[in-house]
Amino acid sequence: MSKLTLISEALNRVIDNKEILKEESYQIFEESQRNSFELYKTSQILRNKYKGTSVTYSRKVFFNLINLCRDTCSYCTYKSEPGQSKISMMSKHDVQNLAKLGKTHKCTEALFVTGERPEQKYQEARTWLKENGFTSTAEYLIHASEIALSEGLFPHTNAGNLTKSEMNELKKTNVSLGLMLENSSMRLSQSGMPHESAPSKHPKARLRVLKDAGELGIPITTGVLIGIGETAFEIIDSIYAIKEIHKKYGHIQEIIFQNFQPKLDTRMKNIPSPEEKYFKTLVALARVIMPEMNIQIPPNLSPDTYASFLSVGINDWGGISPLTPDYINPEFSWPSIDTVAKNSLKAGFELKARLPVYPEFFSFVHPDLKYIISEGTDSEGFVKTEYQK
Ligand code: SF4
Repeated sequence: MSKLTLISEALNRVIDNKEILKEESYQIFEESQRNSFELYKTSQILRNKYKGTSVTYSRKVFFNLINLCRDTCSYCTYKSEPGQSKISMMSKHDVQNLAKLGKTHKCTEALFVTGERPEQKYQEARTWLKENGFTSTAEYLIHASEIALSEGLFPHTNAGNLTKSEMNELKKTNVSLGLMLENSSMRLSQSGMPHESAPSKHPKARLRVLKDAGELGIPITTGVLIGIGETAFEIIDSIYAIKEIHKKYGHIQEIIFQNFQPKLDTRMKNIPSPEEKYFKTLVALARVIMPEMNIQIPPNLSPDTYASFLSVGINDWGGISPLTPDYINPEFSWPSIDTVAKNSLKAGFELKARLPVYPEFFSFVHPDLKYIISEGTDSEGFVKTEYQK
Protein backbone atom coordinates (compact mmCIF):
# COMPACT_ATOMS: atom_id res chain seq x y z
CA MET A 1 0.00 0.00 0.00
CA SER A 2 1.44 3.39 -0.92
CA LYS A 3 1.92 5.65 2.05
CA LEU A 4 -0.84 8.17 2.48
CA THR A 5 0.18 11.53 3.89
CA LEU A 6 -2.57 13.43 5.60
CA ILE A 7 -2.70 17.07 6.63
CA SER A 8 -3.58 16.04 10.17
CA GLU A 9 -0.41 15.25 12.10
CA ALA A 10 -2.36 13.23 14.65
CA LEU A 11 -3.95 11.02 11.98
CA ASN A 12 -0.57 10.46 10.33
CA ARG A 13 0.70 9.25 13.69
CA VAL A 14 -2.23 6.83 14.05
CA ILE A 15 -1.41 5.32 10.67
CA ASP A 16 2.16 4.92 11.95
CA ASN A 17 0.83 2.85 14.91
CA LYS A 18 1.02 5.69 17.45
CA GLU A 19 -1.70 6.52 19.93
CA ILE A 20 -3.42 9.87 19.97
CA LEU A 21 -4.36 11.93 23.00
CA LYS A 22 -7.92 12.72 23.97
CA GLU A 23 -7.41 16.42 23.16
CA GLU A 24 -6.26 15.47 19.68
CA SER A 25 -9.40 13.38 19.24
CA TYR A 26 -11.50 16.40 20.21
CA GLN A 27 -9.67 18.40 17.55
CA ILE A 28 -10.13 15.68 14.93
CA PHE A 29 -13.85 15.66 15.69
CA GLU A 30 -14.07 19.42 15.26
CA GLU A 31 -12.05 19.39 12.06
CA SER A 32 -14.21 16.58 10.68
CA GLN A 33 -17.26 18.80 11.03
CA ARG A 34 -15.72 20.90 8.26
CA ASN A 35 -14.15 18.05 6.30
CA SER A 36 -14.45 14.42 7.25
CA PHE A 37 -12.34 13.01 4.40
CA GLU A 38 -9.14 12.45 6.36
CA LEU A 39 -10.86 10.90 9.36
CA TYR A 40 -12.95 8.53 7.25
CA LYS A 41 -9.95 7.60 5.12
CA THR A 42 -7.86 6.84 8.22
CA SER A 43 -10.63 4.73 9.73
CA GLN A 44 -10.83 2.74 6.47
CA ILE A 45 -7.10 2.14 6.38
CA LEU A 46 -7.04 1.00 10.01
CA ARG A 47 -10.13 -1.16 9.63
CA ASN A 48 -8.65 -2.96 6.65
CA LYS A 49 -5.25 -3.27 8.31
CA TYR A 50 -6.57 -4.88 11.50
CA LYS A 51 -9.77 -6.59 10.37
CA GLY A 52 -9.13 -7.55 6.74
CA THR A 53 -11.94 -7.95 4.25
CA SER A 54 -14.51 -9.71 6.39
CA VAL A 55 -17.33 -8.47 8.60
CA THR A 56 -18.82 -10.66 11.32
CA TYR A 57 -22.14 -11.32 13.02
CA SER A 58 -23.51 -13.71 15.61
CA ARG A 59 -26.62 -15.76 14.83
CA LYS A 60 -28.63 -15.40 18.01
CA VAL A 61 -31.78 -16.17 19.92
CA PHE A 62 -32.93 -13.32 22.18
CA PHE A 63 -34.16 -14.66 25.54
CA ASN A 64 -36.22 -11.86 27.09
CA LEU A 65 -35.99 -13.56 30.48
CA ILE A 66 -37.69 -10.83 32.53
CA ASN A 67 -38.29 -7.25 31.49
CA LEU A 68 -39.37 -5.80 34.80
CA CYS A 69 -36.63 -3.39 35.90
CA ARG A 70 -35.72 -1.59 39.10
CA ASP A 71 -34.57 1.48 37.14
CA THR A 72 -36.13 3.83 34.61
CA CYS A 73 -34.19 5.25 31.66
CA SER A 74 -36.03 7.97 29.77
CA TYR A 75 -35.55 6.29 26.39
CA CYS A 76 -36.35 2.68 27.28
CA THR A 77 -39.32 0.81 25.84
CA TYR A 78 -37.90 -2.60 26.79
CA LYS A 79 -38.86 -2.24 30.44
CA SER A 80 -42.37 -3.39 31.29
CA GLU A 81 -44.63 -2.71 34.26
CA PRO A 82 -46.71 -5.51 35.77
CA GLY A 83 -49.93 -5.95 33.82
CA GLN A 84 -48.62 -4.52 30.54
CA SER A 85 -49.05 -6.71 27.48
CA LYS A 86 -45.32 -6.60 26.68
CA ILE A 87 -44.31 -8.18 29.99
CA SER A 88 -42.04 -11.20 29.70
CA MET A 89 -41.29 -13.64 32.52
CA MET A 90 -39.94 -16.82 30.99
CA SER A 91 -40.24 -20.12 32.82
CA LYS A 92 -37.49 -22.76 32.72
CA HIS A 93 -39.71 -24.65 30.30
CA ASP A 94 -39.95 -21.57 28.02
CA VAL A 95 -36.16 -21.22 28.11
CA GLN A 96 -35.68 -24.85 27.14
CA ASN A 97 -38.24 -24.71 24.34
CA LEU A 98 -36.81 -21.53 22.86
CA ALA A 99 -33.28 -22.93 23.06
CA LYS A 100 -34.42 -26.03 21.15
CA LEU A 101 -36.13 -23.83 18.55
CA GLY A 102 -33.01 -21.68 18.24
CA LYS A 103 -30.97 -24.75 17.56
CA THR A 104 -33.29 -25.75 14.72
CA HIS A 105 -32.73 -22.26 13.25
CA LYS A 106 -28.96 -22.87 13.39
CA CYS A 107 -28.46 -20.18 16.02
CA THR A 108 -25.28 -20.33 18.06
CA GLU A 109 -25.80 -17.51 20.59
CA ALA A 110 -28.26 -17.48 23.49
CA LEU A 111 -28.55 -13.80 24.39
CA PHE A 112 -30.04 -13.50 27.87
CA VAL A 113 -31.42 -10.07 28.68
CA THR A 114 -33.17 -8.88 31.85
CA GLY A 115 -34.06 -5.60 33.49
CA GLU A 116 -31.90 -4.39 36.37
CA ARG A 117 -32.53 -6.54 39.49
CA PRO A 118 -36.34 -6.56 39.15
CA GLU A 119 -36.75 -8.47 42.41
CA GLN A 120 -35.62 -5.41 44.35
CA LYS A 121 -38.72 -3.52 43.22
CA TYR A 122 -41.48 -5.93 42.23
CA GLN A 123 -43.31 -8.61 44.21
CA GLU A 124 -44.24 -10.14 40.82
CA ALA A 125 -40.55 -10.72 40.13
CA ARG A 126 -39.95 -12.28 43.54
CA THR A 127 -42.93 -14.62 43.02
CA TRP A 128 -41.72 -15.56 39.53
CA LEU A 129 -38.27 -16.35 40.88
CA LYS A 130 -39.72 -18.42 43.72
CA GLU A 131 -41.94 -20.40 41.34
CA ASN A 132 -38.85 -21.29 39.33
CA GLY A 133 -36.83 -22.13 42.45
CA PHE A 134 -34.57 -19.06 42.75
CA THR A 135 -34.10 -16.05 45.00
CA SER A 136 -32.44 -13.68 42.55
CA THR A 137 -32.44 -12.95 38.83
CA ALA A 138 -28.71 -13.67 38.73
CA GLU A 139 -29.29 -17.16 40.20
CA TYR A 140 -31.90 -17.79 37.53
CA LEU A 141 -29.56 -16.52 34.80
CA ILE A 142 -26.94 -19.02 35.90
CA HIS A 143 -29.48 -21.83 35.58
CA ALA A 144 -30.98 -20.56 32.31
CA SER A 145 -27.46 -20.39 30.85
CA GLU A 146 -26.91 -24.03 31.83
CA ILE A 147 -30.12 -24.98 30.00
CA ALA A 148 -29.10 -23.09 26.84
CA LEU A 149 -25.63 -24.60 26.91
CA SER A 150 -27.04 -28.11 27.31
CA GLU A 151 -29.16 -27.46 24.21
CA GLY A 152 -26.09 -26.53 22.20
CA LEU A 153 -26.20 -22.70 22.33
CA PHE A 154 -23.47 -20.42 23.65
CA PRO A 155 -24.80 -18.09 26.35
CA HIS A 156 -24.01 -14.36 26.43
CA THR A 157 -25.72 -12.50 29.29
CA ASN A 158 -26.60 -8.83 29.40
CA ALA A 159 -28.37 -8.27 32.70
CA GLY A 160 -27.13 -4.90 33.94
CA ASN A 161 -24.71 -4.45 36.80
CA LEU A 162 -23.80 -7.89 38.10
CA THR A 163 -21.59 -8.44 41.14
CA LYS A 164 -18.18 -9.97 40.80
CA SER A 165 -19.29 -13.26 42.33
CA GLU A 166 -22.34 -13.42 40.03
CA MET A 167 -20.11 -12.88 37.01
CA ASN A 168 -17.69 -15.51 38.26
CA GLU A 169 -20.55 -18.05 38.35
CA LEU A 170 -21.80 -16.99 34.90
CA LYS A 171 -18.31 -17.43 33.52
CA LYS A 172 -18.77 -21.20 33.82
CA THR A 173 -21.44 -21.18 31.11
CA ASN A 174 -21.22 -17.80 29.36
CA VAL A 175 -18.53 -17.38 26.73
CA SER A 176 -18.81 -13.60 27.19
CA LEU A 177 -20.92 -11.00 28.96
CA GLY A 178 -22.38 -7.69 27.83
CA LEU A 179 -22.82 -4.34 29.54
CA MET A 180 -23.40 -1.07 27.71
CA LEU A 181 -21.49 1.75 29.35
CA GLU A 182 -23.91 4.11 27.52
CA ASN A 183 -21.79 7.12 28.47
CA SER A 184 -19.14 7.93 31.06
CA SER A 185 -20.56 11.38 31.81
CA MET A 186 -22.25 11.95 35.18
CA ARG A 187 -24.15 14.81 33.51
CA LEU A 188 -26.51 12.27 31.92
CA SER A 189 -27.56 11.13 35.40
CA GLN A 190 -28.48 14.62 36.58
CA SER A 191 -31.99 15.95 36.99
CA GLY A 192 -33.89 16.04 33.68
CA MET A 193 -31.35 13.82 31.95
CA PRO A 194 -32.01 10.28 30.62
CA HIS A 195 -30.39 8.37 33.48
CA GLU A 196 -31.81 10.48 36.29
CA SER A 197 -33.91 7.56 37.56
CA ALA A 198 -31.43 4.81 36.74
CA PRO A 199 -28.76 4.52 39.43
CA SER A 200 -27.36 1.45 37.67
CA LYS A 201 -26.40 3.70 34.75
CA HIS A 202 -24.13 5.87 36.89
CA PRO A 203 -20.81 5.74 35.07
CA LYS A 204 -18.91 4.74 38.20
CA ALA A 205 -21.16 1.71 38.70
CA ARG A 206 -20.85 0.67 35.05
CA LEU A 207 -17.09 1.14 34.92
CA ARG A 208 -16.77 -0.85 38.12
CA VAL A 209 -18.50 -3.84 36.48
CA LEU A 210 -16.30 -3.56 33.39
CA LYS A 211 -13.23 -3.57 35.65
CA ASP A 212 -14.52 -6.52 37.69
CA ALA A 213 -15.03 -8.48 34.47
CA GLY A 214 -11.43 -7.65 33.60
CA GLU A 215 -10.17 -8.93 36.93
CA LEU A 216 -12.10 -12.14 36.32
CA GLY A 217 -10.74 -12.44 32.77
CA ILE A 218 -14.21 -12.42 31.20
CA PRO A 219 -14.50 -11.16 27.61
CA ILE A 220 -17.08 -8.40 27.65
CA THR A 221 -18.95 -6.41 25.05
CA THR A 222 -19.70 -2.83 25.93
CA GLY A 223 -20.90 0.19 24.05
CA VAL A 224 -22.13 3.74 23.88
CA LEU A 225 -25.56 5.11 23.13
CA ILE A 226 -25.42 8.00 20.69
CA GLY A 227 -27.98 10.80 20.62
CA ILE A 228 -29.37 10.88 24.17
CA GLY A 229 -28.33 14.43 24.96
CA GLU A 230 -24.61 13.89 25.24
CA THR A 231 -21.93 16.01 23.63
CA ALA A 232 -19.50 14.55 21.11
CA PHE A 233 -16.70 15.14 23.61
CA GLU A 234 -18.58 13.02 26.17
CA ILE A 235 -18.66 10.16 23.67
CA ILE A 236 -14.94 10.61 23.08
CA ASP A 237 -14.38 10.59 26.87
CA SER A 238 -16.42 7.37 27.05
CA ILE A 239 -14.26 5.71 24.39
CA TYR A 240 -11.14 6.68 26.33
CA ALA A 241 -12.67 5.37 29.58
CA ILE A 242 -13.23 2.00 27.87
CA LYS A 243 -9.76 2.13 26.36
CA GLU A 244 -8.15 2.71 29.75
CA ILE A 245 -9.84 -0.37 31.24
CA HIS A 246 -9.03 -2.46 28.19
CA LYS A 247 -5.38 -1.43 28.40
CA LYS A 248 -5.21 -2.82 31.91
CA TYR A 249 -7.13 -6.08 31.45
CA GLY A 250 -7.30 -6.70 27.66
CA HIS A 251 -10.82 -8.16 27.95
CA ILE A 252 -13.08 -5.69 26.09
CA GLN A 253 -13.95 -7.70 23.02
CA GLU A 254 -16.20 -5.22 21.24
CA ILE A 255 -17.65 -1.71 21.39
CA ILE A 256 -21.20 -1.23 20.12
CA PHE A 257 -22.19 2.13 18.71
CA GLN A 258 -25.94 2.29 19.11
CA ASN A 259 -27.87 5.16 17.59
CA PHE A 260 -30.75 6.28 19.79
CA GLN A 261 -34.22 5.78 18.32
CA PRO A 262 -37.17 7.56 20.00
CA LYS A 263 -39.94 5.34 21.35
CA LEU A 264 -43.56 6.49 21.50
CA ASP A 265 -44.17 5.32 25.06
CA THR A 266 -41.14 7.06 26.58
CA ARG A 267 -40.24 10.49 27.94
CA MET A 268 -37.83 10.99 25.03
CA LYS A 269 -40.41 10.28 22.32
CA ASN A 270 -39.92 13.71 20.71
CA ILE A 271 -36.12 13.65 20.65
CA PRO A 272 -34.88 12.90 17.13
CA SER A 273 -32.37 10.14 16.47
CA PRO A 274 -28.84 11.45 15.88
CA GLU A 275 -27.79 12.73 12.49
CA GLU A 276 -25.96 10.11 10.51
CA LYS A 277 -22.91 12.30 9.92
CA TYR A 278 -22.46 12.82 13.68
CA PHE A 279 -22.92 9.08 14.28
CA LYS A 280 -20.46 8.13 11.54
CA THR A 281 -17.84 10.60 12.70
CA LEU A 282 -17.88 9.10 16.20
CA VAL A 283 -17.68 5.57 14.83
CA ALA A 284 -14.70 6.55 12.66
CA LEU A 285 -13.05 8.25 15.65
CA ALA A 286 -13.43 5.10 17.72
CA ARG A 287 -11.48 3.17 15.07
CA VAL A 288 -8.77 5.83 15.24
CA ILE A 289 -8.66 5.81 19.06
CA MET A 290 -8.68 2.01 19.33
CA PRO A 291 -7.46 0.71 15.96
CA GLU A 292 -7.60 -2.98 16.88
CA MET A 293 -10.98 -2.99 18.64
CA ASN A 294 -14.00 -4.82 17.25
CA ILE A 295 -16.52 -2.10 16.45
CA GLN A 296 -20.18 -2.84 15.84
CA ILE A 297 -23.28 -1.02 14.69
CA PRO A 298 -26.65 -2.81 14.73
CA PRO A 299 -27.82 -3.04 11.09
CA ASN A 300 -31.52 -2.91 11.99
CA LEU A 301 -31.12 0.61 13.44
CA SER A 302 -29.70 2.01 10.19
CA PRO A 303 -31.74 -0.16 7.81
CA ASP A 304 -31.03 1.79 4.61
CA THR A 305 -27.44 2.80 5.19
CA TYR A 306 -25.75 0.24 7.44
CA ALA A 307 -23.42 -1.02 4.71
CA SER A 308 -21.93 2.48 4.35
CA PHE A 309 -20.56 2.15 7.91
CA LEU A 310 -18.12 -0.43 6.58
CA SER A 311 -16.22 2.50 5.11
CA VAL A 312 -15.89 4.30 8.45
CA GLY A 313 -14.35 1.55 10.50
CA ILE A 314 -16.91 -1.00 11.69
CA ASN A 315 -16.18 -4.72 11.40
CA ASP A 316 -19.21 -6.35 13.03
CA TRP A 317 -23.03 -6.38 12.86
CA GLY A 318 -23.56 -7.88 16.31
CA GLY A 319 -26.22 -10.44 17.04
CA ILE A 320 -28.82 -10.98 14.33
CA SER A 321 -31.76 -13.26 15.01
CA PRO A 322 -33.65 -15.22 12.38
CA LEU A 323 -36.17 -16.14 15.08
CA THR A 324 -36.75 -13.56 17.82
CA PRO A 325 -37.33 -9.78 17.68
CA ASP A 326 -35.00 -7.06 18.94
CA TYR A 327 -36.90 -6.45 22.19
CA ILE A 328 -34.87 -3.31 22.87
CA ASN A 329 -35.92 -1.75 19.54
CA PRO A 330 -39.02 -3.77 18.65
CA GLU A 331 -40.01 -1.42 15.82
CA PHE A 332 -36.80 -2.30 13.95
CA SER A 333 -36.89 -5.86 12.66
CA TRP A 334 -33.65 -7.60 11.80
CA PRO A 335 -32.68 -7.67 8.15
CA SER A 336 -32.33 -11.24 6.91
CA ILE A 337 -28.83 -12.66 7.22
CA ASP A 338 -28.80 -13.23 3.44
CA THR A 339 -29.54 -9.55 2.85
CA VAL A 340 -26.79 -8.49 5.24
CA ALA A 341 -24.41 -10.87 3.46
CA LYS A 342 -25.33 -9.42 0.04
CA ASN A 343 -25.03 -5.81 1.17
CA SER A 344 -21.72 -6.50 2.89
CA LEU A 345 -20.39 -8.16 -0.24
CA LYS A 346 -21.50 -5.23 -2.41
CA ALA A 347 -19.42 -3.01 -0.14
CA GLY A 348 -16.45 -5.36 -0.56
CA PHE A 349 -16.66 -7.46 2.61
CA GLU A 350 -17.38 -11.12 3.21
CA LEU A 351 -19.88 -11.89 5.98
CA LYS A 352 -18.63 -14.46 8.50
CA ALA A 353 -20.49 -16.02 11.41
CA ARG A 354 -18.78 -15.77 14.78
CA LEU A 355 -19.72 -17.04 18.22
CA PRO A 356 -20.70 -14.54 20.93
CA VAL A 357 -17.02 -14.59 21.83
CA TYR A 358 -14.56 -13.33 19.21
CA PRO A 359 -11.83 -15.78 18.17
CA GLU A 360 -9.06 -13.61 19.66
CA PHE A 361 -10.72 -14.01 23.08
CA PHE A 362 -11.10 -17.82 23.10
CA SER A 363 -8.17 -18.08 25.51
CA PHE A 364 -10.19 -16.12 28.13
CA VAL A 365 -13.08 -18.58 28.14
CA HIS A 366 -13.65 -21.04 31.02
CA PRO A 367 -11.70 -24.27 30.39
CA ASP A 368 -14.92 -26.35 30.41
CA LEU A 369 -16.20 -24.43 27.37
CA LYS A 370 -13.08 -24.56 25.23
CA TYR A 371 -13.72 -28.02 23.82
CA ILE A 372 -17.28 -27.13 22.74
CA ILE A 373 -15.98 -23.97 21.09
CA SER A 374 -13.29 -25.85 19.20
CA GLU A 375 -15.86 -28.38 17.99
CA GLY A 376 -18.03 -25.69 16.41
CA THR A 377 -15.39 -23.45 14.89
CA ASP A 378 -12.98 -23.58 11.97
CA SER A 379 -9.25 -22.91 11.99
CA GLU A 380 -9.83 -19.13 12.09
CA GLY A 381 -12.31 -19.39 14.96
CA PHE A 382 -15.43 -18.68 12.89
CA VAL A 383 -18.53 -20.90 13.04
CA LYS A 384 -18.09 -23.96 10.83
CA THR A 385 -20.24 -23.72 7.71
CA GLU A 386 -22.06 -26.99 8.52
CA TYR A 387 -23.43 -25.33 11.68
CA GLN A 388 -24.77 -22.37 9.74
CA LYS A 389 -27.25 -23.47 7.06
S1 SF4 B 1 -32.48 0.56 29.67
FE1 SF4 B 1 -32.13 -1.17 31.07
S2 SF4 B 1 -31.79 -0.21 33.07
FE2 SF4 B 1 -32.78 1.32 31.77
S3 SF4 B 1 -34.99 1.09 32.17
FE3 SF4 B 1 -34.49 -0.15 30.38
S4 SF4 B 1 -34.14 -2.19 31.20
FE4 SF4 B 1 -33.97 -0.78 32.92
